[in-house]
Amino acid sequence: MAKFHVVYDRSNCIGAAACAAISPKHWVISDEDGKANLIGGIERDDGFYECEIDAADYKEVLESAQACPVVVIKIYNQNDEEVN
Ligand code: SF4
Repeated sequence: MAKFHVVYDRSNCIGAAACAAISPKHWVISDEDGKANLIGGIERDDGFYECEIDAADYKEVLESAQACPVVVIKIYNQNDEEVN
């Protein structure tokens, strides 16, 4: 089954919480700073967070990305093409 990668620029999250409302399986709002945490996300050297999701979760995560007012959530397919 196809996989997708989510890349999240946490530093520019404004804590609007739209992502967590739409996809609580993948996003949780931090009690510490009010920003979203990408569940299962690994912090990269550049400070972005990344995780792999199954194709079955793609639609829900895509909706969360599209709802983010500051567009800090990107989704890439297996060929590293941006799909949102
Ligand atoms: S919708 Fe965007 S700004 Fe709001 S908490 Fe999620 S990542 Fe942050």
